[in-house]
Amino acid sequence: MRSQFNPLKVTLCLVFLIATICFFTGCKSNTDSAATLAVINARIWTGDPDQPWAEAMAVKGEEILFVGTNQEVEKLTGEGSNVIDAKGKMVTPGFNDAHIHFIDGGFGLSSVQLRDAKTRQEFIDRIAAFAKTIPAGSWILNGDWDHTNWGGELPKASWIDSITPNHPVFIQRLDGHMGLANTAAMNLSKVNSSTKDILGGTITRDSKGIPDGIFKDNAMSVIYKHITEPSDDLKDRALKAAMDYVVERGVTSIQNMGTWGDLEVFRRAHKKKELKTRVYAAVPLSSWEKLVEEVERSGRGDSYLKIGGLKGFVDGSLGSHTAAFQKAFSDTPADSGFMVTTTDKLYTAISAADKAGLQLLIHSIGDKAIRELLDIFERVEKENGKKDRRFRIEHFQHIAPADFPRIARMNLVASVQPYHAIDDGRWAEKIIGPERIKTTYAFKSLLDNKTILAFGSDWFVAPPTPLEGIYAAVTRRTIDDQNPGGWVPEQKITVEQALRAYTSGAAYASFDEDKKGVLKKNAFADFVVLDNDITTIDPEKIRDVKVLTTVVGGKVVYEQPAK
Ligand SMILES: [Zn+2]
Repeated sequence: MRSQFNPLKVTLCLVFLIATICFFTGCKSNTDSAATLAVINARIWTGDPDQPWAEAMAVKGEEILFVGTNQEVEKLTGEGSNVIDAKGKMVTPGFNDAHIHFIDGGFGLSSVQLRDAKTRQEFIDRIAAFAKTIPAGSWILNGDWDHTNWGGELPKASWIDSITPNHPVFIQRLDGHMGLANTAAMNLSKVNSSTKDILGGTITRDSKGIPDGIFKDNAMSVIYKHITEPSDDLKDRALKAAMDYVVERGVTSIQNMGTWGDLEVFRRAHKKKELKTRVYAAVPLSSWEKLVEEVERSGRGDSYLKIGGLKGFVDGSLGSHTAAFQKAFSDTPADSGFMVTTTDKLYTAISAADKAGLQLLIHSIGDKAIRELLDIFERVEKENGKKDRRFRIEHFQHIAPADFPRIARMNLVASVQPYHAIDDGRWAEKIIGPERIKTTYAFKSLLDNKTILAFGSDWFVAPPTPLEGIYAAVTRRTIDDQNPGGWVPEQKITVEQALRAYTSGAAYASFDEDKKGVLKKNAFADFVVLDNDITTIDPEKIRDVKVLTTVVGGKVVYEQPAK
């Protein structure tokens, strides 16, 4: 039978034919599939093992549409497409800072700057100058001083009392584990010779037993309790300052080790659509019940602001001699540090939070603290059953070699901060001796033992500059340049391993590996253009590489100003 003419059938056939031709040859796209943004002439390090390098990329809205060649991407662009010609420069996924104190960092940007005060006099002069710029009665906070800069003598209230009679002062050491209060702050906090020490903390005193201004770890709460809250407006300004600062450094996502107060600041900005950095906001472990309720009531958030993580502490820090070690410090033989949370309390909270489906991010530095946390994690995993829980150890600094085999079995996220290695590397051996430093900031051993390495900065404690972190992990050259071949060079890792730790590794640490840390179809269009290819230049030069452009969700959030 002769087939009858059927207009519908012919139309359908034509559509199918055109679609087929377009599929194989690539028609200039219609507005529907046109890219809103495209990057061409680039050296794109995608982080995608199926297509490690590419030349061009097309973005539609918030997500990546296509990654491939210039020709292919040009076919996806139309009149409305914003095209970035990378001129042969390197493009990488946006950096994800897995451990940061973001609001504090923002406040630090606008407070007295003491990190590089090289002498006692410079320290005093800078505080005096800053006090003149703020109203009487306002607290002077942050500071980030480092007493190792002037030979190691801890500052005292008496150094600054005469220049700060009208301002309570509580300025922190750069690791955040001790602070200096002036007499005005101690008076407001009712501190005197009868003030008792606090479990898990120290108040240093003069020969008559009078507190001299230094408060360590838990003892810092004695002063903290009396600090008046900055206004919402000041907090919002701190967040904005922090975002502006990090996008310039190529950071597109942060994981905030913070408070419920920080979360409120993020929420305010999110509501006004002012977040230009994606945020995973962890809150204190002690408040796990509140987080369970919060997640039940309103979920875990969205692509810009997410909750579900709890940050806890096992011990203090190395620089303050408050990290918990199995054997005494090499420079203070009667002291081996201490735990800031009891085992029982930690286990109870971790177990309950894990049962409720929350993620645990636990600060653990000394080899004793790490062993204790591994015990707890193993026990909780056994009792609560296997699941994709991604326990995180924050800092994971000084690991007893005997613990590596079980670390390899535990699917842990090692949330570590490479800049600390080249900073602490200047003096760590003095505190823990030549043997223990071999497994200190042991990034190579952590990779060899099957942890997922997630890099962060620990800003305000260290600079929030991922390229400095990558430089640190690859060269391990201490910041005083005293170890040109690398401090504990056996623990160096490759540029690509370090890049992964600052992108896909950090994304995995917050359950975001499908959308972040990799440039492939349907992932978020979060990426940076660098002014040099860090995989081919001399690693020594990585710290000088600059970010030219930062893009978050397909929007350009930073462009290096024209010179
Ligand atoms: Zn931290």
